[in-house]
Amino acid sequence: MKADTQTTILNFIDGVFQAGTGETYANYDPATGKPFGEVLAASKSDVDAAVGAARAALKGPWGTLATADRVALLRKLAVAINARFDDFLEAEIRDTGKPRSIASHIDIPRGAANFDVFANQIAVASTETFEMGTPDGGTALNYSIRRPKGVIGVICPWNLPLLLMTWKVAPALACGNTVVVKPSEHTPATATLLGEVMNAVGIPRGVYNVVHGHGKDSAGEFLTTHPDVDAYTFTGETKTGEAIMAAASKGVRPVSLELGGKNAGIVFDDADLEATLEGIGRACFANTGQVCLGTERLFVQRGIYERFLEGFAKKAAGYRFGDPFDEATTMGPLVSAEHIEKVSGYYDKAGRAGAEVIAGGGRPQVAGLEDGYWIEPTIWTGLNRDAAIVTEEIFGPCTHVMPFEEEEEAIAEANASPYGLATSIWTTDLARAHRTAGAIEVGIAWVNSWFLRDLRTPFGGAGQSGIGREGGIHSLEFYSELRNVCIKY
Ligand code: NDP
Repeated sequence: MKADTQTTILNFIDGVFQAGTGETYANYDPATGKPFGEVLAASKSDVDAAVGAARAALKGPWGTLATADRVALLRKLAVAINARFDDFLEAEIRDTGKPRSIASHIDIPRGAANFDVFANQIAVASTETFEMGTPDGGTALNYSIRRPKGVIGVICPWNLPLLLMTWKVAPALACGNTVVVKPSEHTPATATLLGEVMNAVGIPRGVYNVVHGHGKDSAGEFLTTHPDVDAYTFTGETKTGEAIMAAASKGVRPVSLELGGKNAGIVFDDADLEATLEGIGRACFANTGQVCLGTERLFVQRGIYERFLEGFAKKAAGYRFGDPFDEATTMGPLVSAEHIEKVSGYYDKAGRAGAEVIAGGGRPQVAGLEDGYWIEPTIWTGLNRDAAIVTEEIFGPCTHVMPFEEEEEAIAEANASPYGLATSIWTTDLARAHRTAGAIEVGIAWVNSWFLRDLRTPFGGAGQSGIGREGGIHSLEFYSELRNVCIKY
């Protein structure tokens, strides 16, 4: 347990760590519910300074750097994050409360790898050429060149802080942009630490800036209403995405939005039960359910329903709560007091709506950590499809299970949501797998897997789950302005 050191989080503007002149707020440890540091938030003038620094860097040496040199710097960033792996790991665990076993296998390695992935991508990215005839019998050659979009506002959530931030910052820098990052109020540490790494590898000042703030009338809003930001990339709740989109419409700035979900899992009679329980267990409970791709609606075919529920209840009961720094802990707390209030509110609502509780349903007592934001992995059944539990994103370790008879019924249920981020389908029938994956209206359909990611593939949501795709070349498309050059000769 690392609860004795106090931290002070500063903003990182123009290559320098600076106390913000905004409000100061406390940073809480989700495992203890106690403050362990403070964040010196940015005021409007600090955000102006960050955007100004980003603009100056774009006009300065960064703007004219050859792609090969940017690639080399991105690779150095990946190496340098890994060289400070333990510092990033500790910072991420304290901010989020996620178990070491998750942060050390997913958050920090992927946070570093994103720089390598987009270094590789930009190193080989090509553009199109078209030769054409002209009306006077001549020829013209069209070719496209990639130019940075400019200063990018990067606004990130708290569930996978470093990973989701570098997922945006790495391709933005790969394309020659500069960034101003606003991390979540709950998880300010790793974005700030990355400032040290940026300086250490020689990224020019002003290319990467971080401003902190929380709630209304703070850094996030100052950034999204700033007239000198050229584009916004955001991951977070759908209603925040709407606010950002509205702000970005002033000046017609493009947005990339990765938003909420109410993802459906479908288990067919012919599924491999053991593999399904393992995969669906992760899809529902990993990271204490705080994963946008997580499954909160589950449809299980009648023939396997009882056996599935029995195995699934055992899975839910098998997690081990405890100190997130302890290797043996498999379930951490929720991220904040605000979030435990929201999630436990849904647990109460499920009770009032008459849900049958198959596993969990309450808040555990964790010895020595009684004031942490703990909640049990929970499985409900018995509600109808318009219950709040079945329609609204909870973002906790919980899911509602419904039986179904026919494939068409499961597809219709899965599609009965305004969201469309991901689905996870479990079957050994290949034709059924293809049919179902093609019929569910989502950005990502996994078959016999969940969260299996090749970072070159398109990632994003349909419907109210977002706008645009990130990953591989798709990220480069958002972060660069393609210019067509037409030469008549
Ligand atoms: P929020 O939308 O509450 O916050 C995300 C970020 O936006 C925070 O940095 C927040 O700052 C900032 N913000 C809030 N209001 C504004 C505003 N008006 N203008 C500018 N910035 C603002 O999301 P959470 O952090 O709660 O993250 C959980 C959500 O993220 C879930 O809904 C989840 O589904 C979604 N998500 C989606 C993913 C995807 O890829 N589709 C992946 C991961 C999560 P502050 O801290 O001050 O509130």
